[in-house]
Amino acid sequence: MAEITAPRGVRDVLPDESWKWAYVLGQFRQIADGFGFSEIHLPIFEHTELFCRGIGDTTDVVEKEMYTFEDRSGRSLTLRPEVTASTVRSYLEQNMASRPQPVKLWTAGPMFRYERPQKGRYRQFWQLDVEVLGSDSPLVDVEVIELSLELYRRLGMTNLEVVINSVGCPACRPAYREALRAYLRPHLGELCESCRSRFDRNPLRILDCKNPTCKAITEGAPDVMDSLCDECSGHFAAVRKGLDLLGARTHIDKRLVRGLDYYTKTAYEVLSGDLGAQNAVCGGGRYDNLAESIGGPHLPGVGFASGIERIVLTMEQQGCSFGREPALDAYVIAVDETARDEALKLLYALRREGLSADMDYQGRAMKAQFKSASQAAFACILGGDEVARSVVALKEMASGNQEECAFDGAAQVIRSRLGR
Ligand code: ATP
Ligand code: MG
Repeated sequence: MAEITAPRGVRDVLPDESWKWAYVLGQFRQIADGFGFSEIHLPIFEHTELFCRGIGDTTDVVEKEMYTFEDRSGRSLTLRPEVTASTVRSYLEQNMASRPQPVKLWTAGPMFRYERPQKGRYRQFWQLDVEVLGSDSPLVDVEVIELSLELYRRLGMTNLEVVINSVGCPACRPAYREALRAYLRPHLGELCESCRSRFDRNPLRILDCKNPTCKAITEGAPDVMDSLCDECSGHFAAVRKGLDLLGARTHIDKRLVRGLDYYTKTAYEVLSGDLGAQNAVCGGGRYDNLAESIGGPHLPGVGFASGIERIVLTMEQQGCSFGREPALDAYVIAVDETARDEALKLLYALRREGLSADMDYQGRAMKAQFKSASQAAFACILGGDEVARSVVALKEMASGNQEECAFDGAAQVIRSRLGR
């Protein structure tokens, strides 16, 4: 029988890597908490309708990337491809409007998109996500952007580019869309097939097509900045001013667009110079009309999502530190059969004292036990002689120094040697 493998595009994060994830997640949690955000846990699947309306029918995500299935009672459900729509859904459903505004939330977890798997692009991947709901202040946009940059700073990431743009609002976007169509119309025949179909439905998305011909054509396209209404250009200026005040260097990228009506004003991305083709580590922006698109009242919002796989890849590429690789405080070694019972008692005594400790249960040879112990700070060696005298031989693995201590005092000695 053929062995069962994991589905295409998903990956196992093994212990050699999972500790790095834990480090990144820990830093993210600390920074988000420090910025006054609270954690929210949201469901992994939602009604398909939430994403169709909350992300938009004409996006790649909804058109081609969703994992949609019917449950046993025939409801159409979808594994979440992102978490913004769910956050807004939860805000409305849980009546978070009755809490002090704005509501500042963070979450982290797996997202699912049916895409062509490649380095940095998977079908199940994790995002770190923050969302601020209930404020249209440009200072909130600044806070969200700065939170992501503080994270990358804290993680030691460099060679990042922050690109920012404004996508306007329903008041000014129609005029821009028309200006764009007028510019593109003479080139319609030269555009790639998907862009030709975007022309009517969602021409803004032609601006971020990766096809070289489309790119060359859109090079001279009208600048969205020239079409912004007073409110949108004022908001954008205030965001840029806030970022300047904090010393955050950003470039305007007129190609950075989100072609949907409920994406408004600020759009931004953080790009890594060390990732190759999948270079976006973070995408975010404002979505003041999303709540209405899923049937709610007007509710301004802004947030970002950052892919943890791409963060870790960038950090590895750049030789960033992930903190200390987890290691056991102690590994208990029974020299022979006579010491096994005492070794087991010592193991649990250390664990009860809050030390991390492990031992071998298979009766392996001393050499094999010492090999396992080499990853620990201390080896606690027990033979018949030590057992008879109620002592433990403590070997500090890094230095090779060995000392003897009372069986009952072993935990305390280890703790004091570790400075805890
Ligand atoms: P891309 O242009 O790479 O497809 P996107 O615009 O689809 O990105 P967003 O929806 O803005 O990405 O998601 C935010 C972040 O989530 C991205 O910047 C990236 O770090 C990460 N991400 C998105 N899709 C994937 C994926 N399939 N695998 C791994 N990470 C991903
Ligand atoms: Mg994508």
